[in-house]
Amino acid sequence: AEQVDPDPSKKTLVVLGTGWGSVSLLKKLDTENYNVIVVSPRNYFLFTPLLPSCTTGTIEHRSIMEPIRNFLRHKKAAVKYYEADCTKIDYENKMIYINDDSEIKGSTSATEVPFDMLVVGVGAENATFGIPGVRENGCFLKEVGDAQKIRKRIMDCVETATFKDQSPEEVKRLLHMVVVGGGPTGVEFAGELQDFFENDLRKWVPEIADNFHVTLVEALPNVLPSFSKNLIDYTEQTFKEETIEIRTKTMVKNVTEKYIEAQYTDAQGQKQLEQIPYGLLVWATGNALRPVVKDLMSQIPAQKDSRRGLAVNEYLVVKGTENIWAVGDCAIANYAPTAQVAAQEGAFLARLFNQMAKTEEIETELASLSIAQEKAANKETRDDAFAKIKDLQKRLRRVKSMGPFEYSHQGSLAYIGSEKAVADISWLTGNLATGGQLTYFFWRSAYLSMCFSTRNRILVIMDWMKTQVFGRDVSRE
Ligand code: FAD
Ligand code: NAD
Repeated sequence: AEQVDPDPSKKTLVVLGTGWGSVSLLKKLDTENYNVIVVSPRNYFLFTPLLPSCTTGTIEHRSIMEPIRNFLRHKKAAVKYYEADCTKIDYENKMIYINDDSEIKGSTSATEVPFDMLVVGVGAENATFGIPGVRENGCFLKEVGDAQKIRKRIMDCVETATFKDQSPEEVKRLLHMVVVGGGPTGVEFAGELQDFFENDLRKWVPEIADNFHVTLVEALPNVLPSFSKNLIDYTEQTFKEETIEIRTKTMVKNVTEKYIEAQYTDAQGQKQLEQIPYGLLVWATGNALRPVVKDLMSQIPAQKDSRRGLAVNEYLVVKGTENIWAVGDCAIANYAPTAQVAAQEGAFLARLFNQMAKTEEIETELASLSIAQEKAANKETRDDAFAKIKDLQKRLRRVKSMGPFEYSHQGSLAYIGSEKAVADISWLTGNLATGGQLTYFFWRSAYLSMCFSTRNRILVIMDWMKTQVFGRDVSRE
């Protein structure tokens, strides 16, 4: 679609974000009905389920990125994209403020964009719970840059540990890889890291073999709290075999440059504080609100009791507003903050907006038909218009009868290392909880089929093959 000026007869629909929620909306949206503007600091969609594989080079990060430009140019009507952060949403004045936060800036790097309709799909930030030192010393695992940073640090730890005359304690510390948070992100990363060690590092750098060690720290009594009990047991058992240490009921309270301080309860029921030295720290304790979302919530009285995100109604309208919708991790619709939920919410909104446009079109047509009917010169034309009106009214009722958003859970899947995966899948007849190598092949094919484009799919397959044949690349970029 070629770029044209906004059509004044159409409403302006602004979409914030290029993640799972927003992109799934844009995929299905009929862009001819609105002046669509997309604002996101990231000019690509990221297939997050395979991001843990990028931390060790099993998959190269570009294989799971899809440029937003490539995707938007295939839409029927032109969509404007601005690479920027939305810094503020002014609800009263229907205006958003945007800021070009990237390295290269023009003479304008901050401006405003008015909207008639707004979709907030900005996702979430990494939670730190205000624990000191996390941001300064830990690595998160949410974006491409995070995965690259981890990949570099793993190799930096390995090379520094093998530096001439390094003391034994320091070698131990540098090769201690600590993961905080036993949710799916932490578990998948720990599994990938142990794979990297077993399949490649052990061979390439044999002198680290005795000291390389992965520990997963979780505050709750078990890892993967959202999975079935038998899969939790299976994961914990597999980790034991993989020699990944799991420290449950251990809550990290403080982080310094070389160790974390964690609280655990000893055999006597006493709370103890322990210092755990680390070389690499990956922090995966879930989601927190983005400032722009927090600020919007503070402008809307109906949001005053929401804590974890924008409260939305069953049509994903932000409660207390008429023209703002929210999807994905920044919206609270009583579902887990997953890609699966975000994607279904986005697709639902696309259908809703397509229907709304149709409704408006029919209503305009109805209005002009009523006038025509009144002015009709003879009975025949009047009857004719009347029949058309009846028909349109029927269509309008059908269009307007779109039901509320309903989430359909396809199941949860997680990779746990050594070519094993766990899956909680809902079947028609009930639930299936499986783990093992067969599940791993299922995991691989399921994620492949979910990839954004054929291009991504082929790149991922090639990366997997490359890893199989040559091993992972251990050079530090
Ligand atoms: P995101 O996908 O995070 O997208 C948010 C978008 O908003 C981004 O484009 C971002 O750049 C943009 N943005 C941020 N701030 C602003 C701003 N101020 N203005 C404008 N734009 C902004 N879920 C599953 O269901 N299955 C999985 O296997 C799975 N694996 C995961 C693995 C990892 C490592 C991680 C981190 C998450 C995983 N998830 C998985 C969760 C899933 O990725 C999220 O639930 C999903 O990304 C949420 O979609 P979203 O659209 O709300 O946010
Ligand atoms: P999460 O919220 O699922 O898990 C975070 C874990 O960190 C919790 O178990 C919590 O008890 C623990 N924790 C918090 N503070 C701690 C502390 N101070 N010390 C020790 N442990 C602490 O986070 P996540 O794994 O990043 O997942 C976020 C969302 O993304 C979830 O909804 C998840 O389902 C989804 N996700 C799904 C997949 C998948 O399906 N394969 C993969 C990754 C993420």
